[in-house]
Amino acid sequence: MDLTGKTVLITGSSRGIGAAIALAFAQKGANIALNSRHALASAQVAAIQAYGVDCVGIVGDVTQDAAQIIDQVLAHFGHLDVLVNNAGITADKLLIRMQPADFAQTIQTNLVGTFNMIQHSLKPLFKQRSGCIINLASVVALTGNIGQANYAASKAGIIGLTKSVAREAALRQVRCNALAPGMITTAMTQDLSTKVKTQIETEIPLKRFGTPEEVAQAAIFLAENDYMTGQTIAIDGGMTMY
Ligand code: NDP
Repeated sequence: MDLTGKTVLITGSSRGIGAAIALAFAQKGANIALNSRHALASAQVAAIQAYGVDCVGIVGDVTQDAAQIIDQVLAHFGHLDVLVNNAGITADKLLIRMQPADFAQTIQTNLVGTFNMIQHSLKPLFKQRSGCIINLASVVALTGNIGQANYAASKAGIIGLTKSVAREAALRQVRCNALAPGMITTAMTQDLSTKVKTQIETEIPLKRFGTPEEVAQAAIFLAENDYMTGQTIAIDGGMTMY
């Protein structure tokens, strides 16, 4: 897919990996729809527009506003070409202390939110018989993780969802893939103590956390490559090469 002039919607793109993905698509000449639950900063919109592309910020919660988010994208840009389901949360706790609400809220945002966005985007994508969906999973979907039973379950669900969507949507030339980042430096990982970070780094073959920009590079690859569907790509410094 040539991304010039295409419309890319990235959920949860006010910061971190989503913001880096938005910038990377703008650098490729795509028009950008940002999204988060809170108002998007005008400085972020301006930084994207500086690449000579159109950019709008759409406030909405993927757990309940999916239809309105997609409708606003279509009303502004006239079409949708790439949907990046990036909005995600953590609510880490050891299983023995995890409340049902911690489990449900994480599944609701990460997995049900992704489902909501996909379901509401499929009609326009199917109609134009082109487009692609990129879902943010995680390495913990593949490995599991202490304190992240809810998060790992939500992300493992995303991998199964990705493969099922890929099979259904292929009939209409629409593709669906997932990214499984390892430890990436964002707000989501900033609360880890230096001791824990150092410990984690020793266990990563490349001995460092990744950057949001390195995840964004993989998102661009998945969007541009028309023969990729149903795949999950790990961007994890070698954490899952077994
Ligand atoms: P951040 O916490 O930095 O950013 C999360 C973004 O999602 C924010 O823009 C937030 O904005 C938005 N968001 C949260 N809930 C919702 C919602 N219900 N509806 C719409 N937007 C929402 O996360 P990261 O950048 O670190 O992570 C991005 C994705 O990558 C997530 O899916 C995460 O699980 C995944 N990932 C991250 C890894 C890491 O190491 N950082 C590793 C593996 C996967 P607001 O609060 O304003 O809504």
